[in-house]
Amino acid sequence: MRTKAFLIDLDGTLYFKGEPCPGAIEAINDLRQRKYQLRFLTNTTAKTPKMLHEQMRSLGFDIYEDEIFNATYACLQYLRLQPKNRCHFMVDGAVKAFFKEIPVDDEALDFVVVGDYSDGFDFHTLNHAFRLLMDGAELIALQKGLYWFSSEGVFLDCGAFVTLLEAAAGKTAKVMGKPSETFFKIALESLQLSPSEGIVIGDDITSDIVGAERMKMRSILVRTGKFKPSQLENPVAKPTWVLEDVSRLTQLF
Ligand SMILES: [Mg+2]
Repeated sequence: MRTKAFLIDLDGTLYFKGEPCPGAIEAINDLRQRKYQLRFLTNTTAKTPKMLHEQMRSLGFDIYEDEIFNATYACLQYLRLQPKNRCHFMVDGAVKAFFKEIPVDDEALDFVVVGDYSDGFDFHTLNHAFRLLMDGAELIALQKGLYWFSSEGVFLDCGAFVTLLEAAAGKTAKVMGKPSETFFKIALESLQLSPSEGIVIGDDITSDIVGAERMKMRSILVRTGKFKPSQLENPVAKPTWVLEDVSRLTQLF
């Protein structure tokens, strides 16, 4: 099967703790020169695609805004298709503005949407969301990552709070980001390619590689970012290739 595109993760694969990963900028330039199509799939939900684009450009990456797909974008697409979509959002300000076309209702509603909310998560906001779920709202998680790394250390991610709400309310969240198949399908549709023509690259077995396996796509796990050698002992999904970092891609393709 001929490889036509790469679906590449951002955090931990192209950059880590605010710095580009070794050889990552050159690897993207090289893929572009060799006419591969690129899509950047990230579970980062604290930013809109426009903000992510600005961040990647400032790090030195030659990428375009319409190549970036994040879980926030996937969620907006999903909510647009729902017959009833009154929402209560637990997301930061810029991201909430991104959802401005969706009706907000903080009392009787259809969905509680949880994303990066940092200091917004406290007893009262979580208890309010819990009560809405007990009253019949469905739970949407922009993503379910449990933690992430910055230059200041490790931080709880929104998945930790989603898991708390799931346990308390006895509900399972619909996940918008990786490893959700819908997310990968949106990216492939934008390329008009079949799963066999693309390769997923990422540092996280539970989101990138599990997602690729569900889509029956080939995948590359990089040993940067979140990667831990112990994850390869009893892997939840098996990558097609494992590389030291994304710069080694040129040895395979
Ligand atoms: Mg990652």
